[in-house]
Amino acid sequence: MSVRWIAAFIVVLVGSSVAQGQQLLDIPGDPGLGDAVRTFRSGYVQTELIRLRMNRQLGCSQHCVTIHRAFDRVHRAARLQAPGMRGLKLIVTRDPTVDAWASATGHIFISEQFISRLKLTEPEIALALAHEAMHVLLAHEASSMTLVKALNPVHRKRALVALYEDMDTDLSLMISLAPILREQEHEADESGLMLAALAGYAPALQMGLFRKLQATEISGLTLTHPHAVDRMKRVQGIRPIATRIHEQYGLH
Ligand SMILES: [Zn+2]
Repeated sequence: MSVRWIAAFIVVLVGSSVAQGQQLLDIPGDPGLGDAVRTFRSGYVQTELIRLRMNRQLGCSQHCVTIHRAFDRVHRAARLQAPGMRGLKLIVTRDPTVDAWASATGHIFISEQFISRLKLTEPEIALALAHEAMHVLLAHEASSMTLVKALNPVHRKRALVALYEDMDTDLSLMISLAPILREQEHEADESGLMLAALAGYAPALQMGLFRKLQATEISGLTLTHPHAVDRMKRVQGIRPIATRIHEQYGLH
């Protein structure tokens, strides 16, 4: 079941217990919470950029050509699929604590250490970038913050910044959200594989990313991310379709 349907289901459930006509939630894709999340994240991204610049960890040094070529192709494919989208912005870092992540603002961060450590090839880098691009295009961050807002007792009016803090500190909240966040990861994997296929990368070559993630995965409790072996299994299911998409529609 997609995140949007889960969110809609929660709206119905929660909505039945509050006064008629009262607005409780911004549903995913609603420009209200979407804009608020982007504005909040914009400040966070600027702070992060300053930190990286001060630490001299901003920009690429080893894999520049490969990363930029993969990003340009993925970005081009994304624009073709979603002409109305805001642009994506690639931020390459040399911060060893960063792997890859995306902000609702469209910034996609990836570190050269992540690429070197896993010895990622260009199709595998393309899948990592396409996965992050799909988190942005599917508005996953606004969706999950909508659910955080829904799980917050209605009488506790809390600012968005406090809801973000809850995600770091409130374990019960994270346990409630975990299945949905894991589903978002699978969704980004599956649609990312297709997006990178449209960008011209053969799915069979992209999928080495999961094998490499599995080989370096630290075992233990991962609440919000599925294990690499489960990610691989899910993606295997749509690989034939992604292969056909690559053969028929992939950019050259
Ligand atoms: Zn992800």
